[in-house]
Amino acid sequence: MRSDYDVAVVGYGPVGQMAAILLGRMGYEVVVLERWPELYPRPRAVHYDDEIARIFQRIGISGRLAPITEPATTYEWKNAAGQTLLLLDRSEPGRSGWPAATMFTQPQLEQLLDETAKALGSVDVQQGWEVSDLHDAGDRVHLTVRRGAGGGRDWAPTGEQRTVTAAWAIGCDGANSLVRERMGTPVEDLGFVFDWLIADTVPRDPGLLAGVNLQRCDPARPTTLVSGGPGRRRWEWMLLPGETRREVENAEFVWRMLEQSGVGEADVELERFIVYTFRARWAERWRAGRLLLAGDAAHLMPPFAGQGMCSGIRDAFTLAWHLDLVLKGQAHESTLDAYTTERRGHLQHAIAMSVELGKVICISDPAEAAARDAILLAAAADPATGSIEPPAPSLGPGVHDGAPGEEPGAAGSLFPQASARVGGRSCLLEETLGDGFTLYALDADPRGLLSATAAAYLETLGASFLAVTDELDETGAYRAWFESSDCTVALVRPDFYVFGTASSPEQTDELVCRLESALQKPAIREEIPTG
Ligand SMILES: Cc1cc2nc3c(=O)[nH]c(=O)nc-3n(C[C@H](O)[C@H](O)[C@H](O)COP(=O)(O)OP(=O)(O)OC[C@H]3O[C@@H](n4cnc5c(N)ncnc54)[C@H](O)[C@@H]3O)c2cc1C
Repeated sequence: MRSDYDVAVVGYGPVGQMAAILLGRMGYEVVVLERWPELYPRPRAVHYDDEIARIFQRIGISGRLAPITEPATTYEWKNAAGQTLLLLDRSEPGRSGWPAATMFTQPQLEQLLDETAKALGSVDVQQGWEVSDLHDAGDRVHLTVRRGAGGGRDWAPTGEQRTVTAAWAIGCDGANSLVRERMGTPVEDLGFVFDWLIADTVPRDPGLLAGVNLQRCDPARPTTLVSGGPGRRRWEWMLLPGETRREVENAEFVWRMLEQSGVGEADVELERFIVYTFRARWAERWRAGRLLLAGDAAHLMPPFAGQGMCSGIRDAFTLAWHLDLVLKGQAHESTLDAYTTERRGHLQHAIAMSVELGKVICISDPAEAAARDAILLAAAADPATGSIEPPAPSLGPGVHDGAPGEEPGAAGSLFPQASARVGGRSCLLEETLGDGFTLYALDADPRGLLSATAAAYLETLGASFLAVTDELDETGAYRAWFESSDCTVALVRPDFYVFGTASSPEQTDELVCRLESALQKPAIREEIPTG
């Protein structure tokens, strides 16, 4: 371990891994400090969405993910009588060009991210080192780290201690984050608290319950049954009022639950089981001076929408490019406050959706369940009921043209990715683009729309320029997006969100000017609590 780095990442769960990979790919000297000597072995997340698959594409691991993932084409919610209350169709690719829902097991993903991080020369992964204290000294963050040995409850300090400094520290240190505590940020808690017993099983016949992704909204025992990636099935049972962890967290109880679903020891191997408490909360401020937060350290949500880790990976992805521009002197430090407001706005949407889904399933009162069923069955039978899925969330206020309080438009929303014809072959378009900003223009060379000054500015940011022609846009997805967004030019940020749009050369030049000003002083009109 050296004594000084550009960035210290505290915690090496999937979010810390992603932050380290992204910053390491940009060439920064990154140290990762992780308490446990080994990766966390227990499966938690089982689902990621198409936007996360697109981020995995960006870091070049899509091909290696294929053997450890499987798409889910449906997510069905049934009542105790087996009637369908909700059916979410996931058979079409999402806006990012990847399957809308992919199932996996978290330890296998973390293993792959670990190998990816450690292959980067500038990333120094230090497992078995706990950050016991840290403080922001103004120009550097000072972190006290102590070595420990053993896993879980057996972890104990060995007595070896060091100090490490870094220009920035990112707390990816999970739900009980020390970095969040040191930042003193207020935490908003929605008071949604439910205990669930989670069990991971390996069917002896891989075809057993294959393709089933189900919420059984039975007030006698709300139950989740989903894929845990190829060859695995995940079961989750809500603890009923009055039930204790001690009563349910044992193999006898788990087998009883499985047998009630017609699954016995002859059918599956029981991999592990554990009770988790699902909560809904977020930190109000994700930056204080040189300290930053991402992932579970910044927010927690119940897993019904499968968005906890996904949100954390989005945090790391958005934070990495903001921090890159700040470190290069191309953006003012206040864009890191925009990181909070952008991501927190998006995150609150994910939490609200998870809690709403949780309210549907976490009902143990038969009368309440009957009332819920009546509403959902009536909605399902009514052809006038549109999609029950909320529109895709946009960023909160920050480095984009979307104005707070106004109807969400293209600015601040996720730009699509689709299949394209490039150099005589079909591929996902971003395989052919750089990692920075991209200026897309419909039927025109984007450089031709820019003044020399604006073009030079985008060049300094390492932007890509792309003319969207019919030949390239083989599915018509990009043309359809420009038409529905009522524009012909889109300036897209490194995290795939739209900075802003234009429809003429003058407007395109103004768009680039607004980017330059936003990177110096983002328009964050809301207050960020100071702690
Ligand atoms: C049952 C369940 C199901 C879920 N399903 C989904 C799903 O389907 N999809 C989804 O997107 N999300 C899901 N989630 C959420 C997802 O698992 C978490 O959001 C994700 O693991 C958070 O990653 P993280 O890196 O932020 O934190 P963690 O994975 O918790 O990692 C934090 C790391 O920081 C380390 N650390 C803590 N303090 C220190 C310190 N002082 N010094 C050094 N190291 C430290 C810890 O040892 C740990 O390794 C689920 C969660 C649960 C419990």
